[in-house]
Amino acid sequence: MFVKELEDRFVRYVKIDTTSDEFSTTAPTTQKQFDLLNLLADELREMGAADVRVTDYGVTLATIPATAGGDIPTIALLGHVDTSPQFSGTDVKPIIHRNYDGKPIVLPDAPERVIDPAAFPYLAEKVGDDVVTASGTTLLGADDKAGVAIAMVTANYLLQHPEIPHGKIRLCFTPDEEVGRGVANLTQSDLEADFAYTLDGQFPGEVCYETFSADKATITITGVSIHPGYARGKMVNAVQLAGKLIDRFPQDARSPWTTAGREGYVYIYKMEGSTAEATLHVLLRDYELDGLAEHAAVVEQLCAELQAEEPRAKIECKIEQQYRNMRYWLENDMRPVEYAQAAVRAAGLPLKTRVARGGTDGSRLTEMGIPTPDIFTGMQNYHGPLEWVSLQDMEQSVRVCIELVQQWVDA
Ligand SMILES: [Zn+2]
Repeated sequence: MFVKELEDRFVRYVKIDTTSDEFSTTAPTTQKQFDLLNLLADELREMGAADVRVTDYGVTLATIPATAGGDIPTIALLGHVDTSPQFSGTDVKPIIHRNYDGKPIVLPDAPERVIDPAAFPYLAEKVGDDVVTASGTTLLGADDKAGVAIAMVTANYLLQHPEIPHGKIRLCFTPDEEVGRGVANLTQSDLEADFAYTLDGQFPGEVCYETFSADKATITITGVSIHPGYARGKMVNAVQLAGKLIDRFPQDARSPWTTAGREGYVYIYKMEGSTAEATLHVLLRDYELDGLAEHAAVVEQLCAELQAEEPRAKIECKIEQQYRNMRYWLENDMRPVEYAQAAVRAAGLPLKTRVARGGTDGSRLTEMGIPTPDIFTGMQNYHGPLEWVSLQDMEQSVRVCIELVQQWVDA
């Protein structure tokens, strides 16, 4: 019953270019994100939402007033309007493969790009669904315009059906999630919610309430730079020392390419340097704080060993906190997770718990005191030209959201 409206909204939203830019210092990082943020505000006003506004830092906010009395916590539904700078989001031409026949989908603007159910088994399960893809030269932007469309359809339905009991609901559309700044400027007084949900997950039935805990290590190696013609016995080459250190880093375990599931890693993701000074940038990731501390100890030990071997160099390792697993907060009050899981069951879907091998906007909101698990949208193969989504999967997410707001009434 929601498929037609989901299609209309989703197709309208994905055609709007909203690529974010990690190198920009403005908020939002690209002005074009306002094209969609403002459109959403107009549509929310049209459907009768209250308190509709777009903040100067690029967040669209609105309220669906409560229909039930009592002391019901305020819940926010979040989606991000930006798409990943990893692939073009300009001139997206969505194609709807109605009643999908199960065959490989050839993308017409780049026929060498094929979404093959043999390579993506979940697509094979979607025979008969209305599958949406891009045309080959852009990403689709289901991440996260599927989430945005799901929140908008949910809002429209609840506004038209005041007989459905729920507390006050806030809608929040953010920019720049893909460059890690989605909620950088959002305050509790703007969001005005007790609990929130991001609509930014993948498979139907998924509720995610664990992210990595993340630290960053910056290793600075200071060498001794001398004219190479007269350097005998004097030069200490920071580049060479960096190479030694890199070679000693964990590679057969504790690395991104040898871990999955709940295993953490250390990862040198960037380096720069000269004879005088070299710097390594290292990510430390784990679900548990003990594990994170262990990764830090490994890195610090490697630095100390190298320092002992070459006392003329100076090797510094600085570790900074990035974000924390939202489970540490949710464990104290599991209601946001339990109600989402109950809503998934009430919608007749198999419950799936996923751990995010990364952070989400919900990580930071949770740290701010607004616990924010993540709910599925149906998006697949995101951040590239083979991205696709089933409108029927998106509809399942709308049904979960409608169940979810009712779960909170008797909280
Ligand atoms: Zn996303």
